[in-house]
Amino acid sequence: MDFIHALRSALPSSTLSVDSEILSSHAHDTALGQDYLPASVVIFPSSDAEVTIILEISNRFSIPIVPRGAGTGMTGGCNVVGPCIVLSFVRMNRILEIDLANRIAVVEPGVITGDLQELARSHGLYYPPDPASSDRCTIGGNVAENAGGPSAFKYGVTRQYVTGLSGFYVDGTPFHLGGKLYKNVAGYDLLSLMVGQEGTLSVITKIYLRLIPYPRFRATFRASFSNYDQAIAALQAACTSSVYPAAAEFMDRTCVDAVRLHLGIEVPDGDAFVLFQLDGDQSECDVLRDVCLTHGAHDIEIALSDEDQDAFWKIRRSVSESLTAMSIAKRSHDIVVPPDQIGPYLRRAKALGKQEGVTVLGYGHLGDGNIHVNILQTGPAPILESLTEKLLRLAVDMGGSITGEHGIGLTKKKYLNLMFSDRDIACMKAIKEAFDPKGLLNPGKIF
Ligand SMILES: Cc1cc2nc3c(=O)[nH]c(=O)nc-3n(C[C@H](O)[C@H](O)[C@H](O)COP(=O)(O)OP(=O)(O)OC[C@H]3O[C@@H](n4cnc5c(N)ncnc54)[C@H](O)[C@@H]3O)c2cc1C
Repeated sequence: MDFIHALRSALPSSTLSVDSEILSSHAHDTALGQDYLPASVVIFPSSDAEVTIILEISNRFSIPIVPRGAGTGMTGGCNVVGPCIVLSFVRMNRILEIDLANRIAVVEPGVITGDLQELARSHGLYYPPDPASSDRCTIGGNVAENAGGPSAFKYGVTRQYVTGLSGFYVDGTPFHLGGKLYKNVAGYDLLSLMVGQEGTLSVITKIYLRLIPYPRFRATFRASFSNYDQAIAALQAACTSSVYPAAAEFMDRTCVDAVRLHLGIEVPDGDAFVLFQLDGDQSECDVLRDVCLTHGAHDIEIALSDEDQDAFWKIRRSVSESLTAMSIAKRSHDIVVPPDQIGPYLRRAKALGKQEGVTVLGYGHLGDGNIHVNILQTGPAPILESLTEKLLRLAVDMGGSITGEHGIGLTKKKYLNLMFSDRDIACMKAIKEAFDPKGLLNPGKIF
């Protein structure tokens, strides 16, 4: 193909791959049941200069670009849908600066989130966004997805930490928005628009991130409740008693049973098992214990050492793989409802599953109402797409959203109209058109 020939002539040979295994492994993320085609070529640039060359060739041959981080996305956001150049940022993985005076990190997009967190910590600083994939996913992917995680309850999501971005519009024009700036209200907020754009508006090559002081204290607290309403009431009472957990993660009985079986470890019984992360001071543990007991909690345990806390969090981290292990097929959707609607939502969702002969369950973020609602096939009845639609519609009808962390990508695009009017979607398409008039950047995503 002519464009591959042009790329070969312009770039070092180690930058480019047409190996069939690489073309296939770099053509999709972790979304289950989502189709993809092999990439035409995968390129691993190491510098802005190489990215410029790639964009020039993409434009000259009108060949689309699919930006890619670590491929841990869950909605097919970097899946290949036709002939294209996959632009993998894994080699642009330098932490360029930890600016202590301004408490800002400057990084390339391929930096692994956990590596930045570790380096920040060695300077007494904290980068809070903590997707459960942080040992693999990249900051570029986090920015493009506006990733969250358990600590989003207290500390917010990626967007709250991005103070500046540099990169390229798809025609190769460079942009630089914000920088080491804590305040900036000049013009329309293009910087925010670039966060959560799912690789459809620009190619990001440098990221400025706000860091905050590392918490002086950390404890993990686990408690079992008889239902979600009790757990929500306990969290509400904690927050009005000056205890603001950094995270409050819940899982239901099926999740707990699945983890127990999969890992062979002891986990207390209860229909709503909750892990609280505390990072204020020791006195918070006593207040939270009293509040949880008042709201019917049992099997309360507190871990203080890193090792013990890690053992508690292993339960939460293992839920997804444990559910996969116990089912024939599984689908997961990260819906959001107002936090006080978690109990009512899950009761209605489970009833919908029962009608169709499949298991529906939920786990996730108690504090911000972001539920990983899972559909499991454990018997002959298959998982029907119509159930997904019912579960997403239910979330929207209860004042929620069809996604809180994972984005729209390919898997949710047909449900965009559950949340937005035709006029809203027309405005979004006009934005896409303004950034990418030839539709060359990450085609087929969102709309
Ligand atoms: C086990 C597991 C746990 C997870 N837990 C969480 C969680 O707790 N919270 C959460 O929010 N997500 C979670 N995720 C989802 C996923 O890890 C996040 O969406 C993450 O941000 C994706 O990063 P990535 O580097 O893998 O990006 P990819 O999957 O490679 O790409 C994601 C999107 O970003 C775009 N993109 C990547 N780099 C750039 C760039 N430089 N410029 C422009 N666009 C770019 C891609 O085109 C694509 O649309 C989880 C995934 C797994 C597998």
